[in-house]
Amino acid sequence: MFVLMDALVKPRRGPGLELMRVEVPEPDWGEVLIRIRKTAICGTDVHIYNWDPWAEKNISPPLIVGHEYVGEIARLGPGVKGLREGQRVSGEGHIVCGHCRNCRAGNGQWCKNTVGVGVQRAGAFAQYLCLPATNVVPLEDDYLPEDVIAFFDAYGNATHTALQFDVVGEDVLVTGAGPIGIMAAAICKKNGARKVIITDLNEYRLDLARKMGLFAVNTGRDDLGEIMRQSHMREGFDVALEMSGSEAAVHQIVSHMRNGGKIALLGIFKDEARVDVNEIIFKGLTVQGVYGRKMYETWYKMAAMIEGGLDLTPIITHRFHYTEFEKGFAAMNSGKSGKVILDWRNEP
Ligand SMILES: [Zn+2]
Repeated sequence: MFVLMDALVKPRRGPGLELMRVEVPEPDWGEVLIRIRKTAICGTDVHIYNWDPWAEKNISPPLIVGHEYVGEIARLGPGVKGLREGQRVSGEGHIVCGHCRNCRAGNGQWCKNTVGVGVQRAGAFAQYLCLPATNVVPLEDDYLPEDVIAFFDAYGNATHTALQFDVVGEDVLVTGAGPIGIMAAAICKKNGARKVIITDLNEYRLDLARKMGLFAVNTGRDDLGEIMRQSHMREGFDVALEMSGSEAAVHQIVSHMRNGGKIALLGIFKDEARVDVNEIIFKGLTVQGVYGRKMYETWYKMAAMIEGGLDLTPIITHRFHYTEFEKGFAAMNSGKSGKVILDWRNEP
């Protein structure tokens, strides 16, 4: 007899998701069954929901989606040590092979055989999720708000990007005020940057950044060069974090960097982006592509920064029960949202 659970499924190729009854997964050797408490909707989930060209190319339905979550360990599969039932956990969404060169060197974020939770295997928008024990991250301390743990995956991207370069005493430009851009800017500010400026064209998102205490600039309206002069920035930004996937933002970065500046790229571009490579050469810029997060050093830093006073709760804008998932995706698609949380608990 199979036990059933609710899950948000992409049942076939095309737009939308369906709330379906599916089998509760069985933890295999070395795996853990997690009872999901809360999830957060990521931009990736919206691509899958909308069924855009990226989803068409990368998703094979039927698939339970979602990879940002907090839950508790419901059951340990055979052979699992060091974890126990009832522990509050989240998990690293990249299942890596463990034997390729990068895995062996401790750089799992660059594994060439990586499999993504909620992208290539069953995801977390469900009442239960099965995950290799190696990927489970216990987060039991009371100072970690549960709603924030729900989006630790995204916070991990922000942290990994913000920690690419030393920002102490530096002027930092963050292009793109989505939740990850806002979190990355807040991390740079907390970690000793002299000035952090976050840019976007969307006033709702810029206001969200301002709620987080950030200096936010609408580059559709205000001149970045003039703002730099007012901020006593004479030679340009020292560090830039590109979080928008916009070609215009890359041009803005390259033209406003000081010689020898460092650029981290996290935002995904819809198409090939044109960039003036000569400008990168003559300015001596460093460009670093960023994917995922360090396993598992980034997770430790994330919890530690929150313990140290980094408050991410202002970027949560919507909360729904999972049965109202359509409202959550509508909020994400409206462009007027920060993090959207879905609650998977059913009160008895
Ligand atoms: Zn690998």
